[in-house]
Amino acid sequence: MTSQNVVGRRGATCRAYLGAHYDSVPEGPGANDNASGTASMLEIARVRARDGLCVVAFGSEEVGLYGSQAFVKAHPTDGIAFTVNFDMMGRIDDAMIVGDAKLTKSILDAVQGRPNQPLRAGMFPPRASSDHVSFTAAGVPAVTVTSGDDPNIHTAGDTFEAIRPADLKTMLELGDTAIASLARTLTTR
Ligand SMILES: [Zn+2]
Repeated sequence: MTSQNVVGRRGATCRAYLGAHYDSVPEGPGANDNASGTASMLEIARVRARDGLCVVAFGSEEVGLYGSQAFVKAHPTDGIAFTVNFDMMGRIDDAMIVGDAKLTKSILDAVQGRPNQPLRAGMFPPRASSDHVSFTAAGVPAVTVTSGDDPNIHTAGDTFEAIRPADLKTMLELGDTAIASLARTLTTR
């Protein structure tokens, strides 16, 4: 099997990453899982463009996090301030931040006080995972932000029509607020 990661870099070196997997499963169009995350990542990167803040669209997540694992193996992880991964942003149902506790708290602090803020620190159900795990394993503070479980994922029902625009907007704005705050901590070098 062959796949690709798609990387966007601004500045000489990457000091932090935004991530999202762009693959889906054969039976699923993948609108929520994970076109919603990939689109959110791209829009946040566009609005919050900053030297050192890089983006990676991962391939081969669904078959076992292979894209993110390959990326981490091929690139230095020393001094990477954070990785924030977006996996399903389009239907809020128990929205959560999964992963590094300190980074989770920084994000929750950044979005505190936003109206109807749905995010909490959480854990994926057994056998579920996402690409932040590859970075955590390499010692990088990393989390996945997700709008939560969706009965349509990995089915033919994961379509554009099943995305809830208001939920996607809420999640995108929360992600943007979080990254705006975290990016301020990035020093250029
Ligand atoms: Zn996913």
